[in-house]
Amino acid sequence: MFKSIRWRITIPYVVLTVLTIVGLGIYISNFVRDKYLNDLEKSLTAQGELIVDSLQNTSPLDFQDSGRLDNLAKHWADILNARVTLIDIKGIVQGESDEDRSQMENHLTRPEVQEALNLGVGSSIRQSKTIGIEFMYVALPVQVNGETIGIARIAIPINEINTNIQQLRKTIAIATVFAVLLTIVVSIFIAQRTARPLEELTQTVTKMTYQGLIHPPSTPAEYDEVSQLAEAFNTLVRQLRTQIRALETEQGKLASVLEEMTDGVIITNEDGVVELINPAAELLFDIDVSHIEGQSLIHALRHHQIVELWQRCIETGEEQALTLEIPRHRKFIQCIIIPLETALPGKQLLLFQDLTRMRRLETVRRDFISNISHELRTPLASLKALTETLQEGALDDPPAAKRFLERMETEVDALSHMVSELLELTRIESGQVPLEIVPVSPLKLLEDAIERLGVQAERAGLTIRLNCTKDLPDVLADPPRLGQALVNLVHNAIKFTLPRGEITLAAWQKADMVVFAVQDTGVGIPSDDLPRIFERFYKADRARSGGGTGLGLAITRHLVEAHGGRIWAESIENKGSTFYFSIPIDL
Ligand code: ADP
Repeated sequence: MFKSIRWRITIPYVVLTVLTIVGLGIYISNFVRDKYLNDLEKSLTAQGELIVDSLQNTSPLDFQDSGRLDNLAKHWADILNARVTLIDIKGIVQGESDEDRSQMENHLTRPEVQEALNLGVGSSIRQSKTIGIEFMYVALPVQVNGETIGIARIAIPINEINTNIQQLRKTIAIATVFAVLLTIVVSIFIAQRTARPLEELTQTVTKMTYQGLIHPPSTPAEYDEVSQLAEAFNTLVRQLRTQIRALETEQGKLASVLEEMTDGVIITNEDGVVELINPAAELLFDIDVSHIEGQSLIHALRHHQIVELWQRCIETGEEQALTLEIPRHRKFIQCIIIPLETALPGKQLLLFQDLTRMRRLETVRRDFISNISHELRTPLASLKALTETLQEGALDDPPAAKRFLERMETEVDALSHMVSELLELTRIESGQVPLEIVPVSPLKLLEDAIERLGVQAERAGLTIRLNCTKDLPDVLADPPRLGQALVNLVHNAIKFTLPRGEITLAAWQKADMVVFAVQDTGVGIPSDDLPRIFERFYKADRARSGGGTGLGLAITRHLVEAHGGRIWAESIENKGSTFYFSIPIDL
């Protein structure tokens, strides 16, 4: 408590005041007393000298004539208003103004008498043994012809002086009390004024520590040291704010870059503990971020190759790169580990690039080339064989030649069909096919498809069902193009469903779309192939896919997407497949 600035100011003030006033009081009262006594002694000495002078001029002077001396003592005492004692050289009191001299003892040993005999004048202050009150005595020798024959002593009570001095001390004491009280009030006031702005400043700074740099301290109105401190603090807060804002902006930029990056980023410390991870990395490794904090790399990624690469990076202090596969997610990633020597010493940056799409595109391209060559080779080889057979003599056998020519025509038809499909696909893909969008009834589209392929289905021993209500809203479509998409799906359903199977065509509304579905009870599609069936030339089961080109679903997908829709498929092997696509409704 006494450590507060208030007490640090108040206590010294009060102590100083008390010490000063008490010291001054003691000094003044002593000084006054001494001055009084000095003056009194001087005046008594002067009076005493008068008495001595008067005695010395008395002739004859007999210091044994006590009757006369007694009268003289009383006479002078009356005039001087003091006690006068005349003592002979032996110390016997021969004249006394106030007391009965016969009762008085020998006065030779009195200090003032001794002093007067030895030094010529003597004084002393003491209590009178005779009267009992304090007196100032001044004694002077009475000499006749250079010989001391007696002592004249004059005395005055000094209790009045003592009373005056007491009075003075009392006044000083009262003044001290008042001064102390005044000092306390004034010093508390000063301490308050000094401490308050400091306390306010402390409160603001404390608040800022806990609540951030919201309210900078207000500058006190008076321009003193505290206001200078507050001002300096304000400047500090402003600078800090600017710096924090700049840092936040930088951090925000960095965070958004990390957030939006498609590449995965992880930062680890020297113990291999993950310190930072961005959403792309979480997605890549399927990590739940709430469990990642403070986890080691192996726990977070569960991939020993990455950990080995990280260790190699730590050992060599050099950048490491590796392309690896995450079998769990069927992903190919390129992992680069960089030691962050200068920027963040002891930390490592792990970069992950998802190469899955690129790999898939590469595979698709490779497959496309191998597929197209394969598709072309079969009819071309067959044409070559047929031509050779004709050249080698079959021409001479007209019925055989006709058969060969018919087969050649079939092969050429297949080739031109494939080429036209490829052309169609390329045109749709490159957006060269302008769609004539009109509102069409979904039911009408489904009925048209059934009409076109009904006979074919019947011939294959299949039942076609229709599951669609009349009240569905119209969709925005180019009827011949969307009809083509539907026909492709139904055609596949017929192709891949064994006799006595069923095909169901359905449509329903979902939000602002109509979903069309073509469901069959056919052979189904292996789950590995399912994601790829919409690729060009992709055939799930080459043995069973017959003479198809593998382009039908690619064309269908492009047609649906050109309408602003989406296509997808679900399938269970040997149970059947369902193809869905959505088309926006006419709002
Ligand atoms: P194709 O002309 O060979 O039929 P598609 O692009 O239409 O080419 O189909 C690609 C592959 O998808 C087919 O080879 C087949 O393996 C599979 N497929 C398509 N529809 C079905 C279906 N309804 N049932 C089973 N497999 C299907």
